[in-house]
Amino acid sequence: MDEQTARREIVRVGKLMYERSYVVSSDGNVSVRLDDGRVVATPTQTCKGRMTEDSLAVTDIEGKALNERRASSELAMHLLIYREREDVRSVCHAHPPHGSAFAVAGLAIDQPILSEVILTLGCVPLAEYGTPSTDELTEAMRPLVRHHNALLMANHGAVAYGADVWQAFDRLETLEHTARIAILSRALGGPRDLPPDAIEKLINVREAAGYLDERARCQSCGYLHETQVVCPAVERDTSAPSRAASASPNGKISLTREELIELLSQAARASR
Ligand SMILES: [Zn+2]
Repeated sequence: MDEQTARREIVRVGKLMYERSYVVSSDGNVSVRLDDGRVVATPTQTCKGRMTEDSLAVTDIEGKALNERRASSELAMHLLIYREREDVRSVCHAHPPHGSAFAVAGLAIDQPILSEVILTLGCVPLAEYGTPSTDELTEAMRPLVRHHNALLMANHGAVAYGADVWQAFDRLETLEHTARIAILSRALGGPRDLPPDAIEKLINVREAAGYLDERARCQSCGYLHETQVVCPAVERDTSAPSRAASASPNGKISLTREELIELLSQAARASR
């Protein structure tokens, strides 16, 4: 995407986020990674409903300013997501009330209650609390970014990302809508979960249609463990020399933090 289009679309998404009460005051931030690798981001301390195209900041992938505007202090979480996910070109962070209520209550959005959410978004895990704009927050998010397209941040809010600014916004909107329905259903006696065979069919459909790829099988959804759906990441990683757990001549092996978490969670699942 070129810079002018990115500026225009960030302003449009900022207005929508504000009008839909996903943010108030100067909350939230939106960014786009351009084709040339630079990042256009919302400026610090600015209401997202009142931005102008010329108010936006431009940085490199390390966050170094490339124009006279100062980017949001929460840009670090956007840069983490861009570094972890080559396919992501836009990130939207907000404090939508229903999604944030889950984050405040210490809950993930991971119940199998809506067929279309399983098809298009998958599960939204809860990252542990970290002080905003510090490494604490990005380190809590890092293990979750690879397999999910939206995250909740404990006692803070939500972030969603995608191939362009509209996919990122749509995922944020789906997250908020799902959280709202989940809360409302509790007043009507509680949601009824979809059974494992229905979930398997939905996962087949979403992969055949290209809504989500096999990476989403590795999401932190309790319900996936009750199905025949298997996370392919570890098998694939060990066959790829660049990402493989590497063995040294003395027989010791080394794993990345992500590989270790994946192995441990697979072992925990297998022992249930
Ligand atoms: Zn925030």
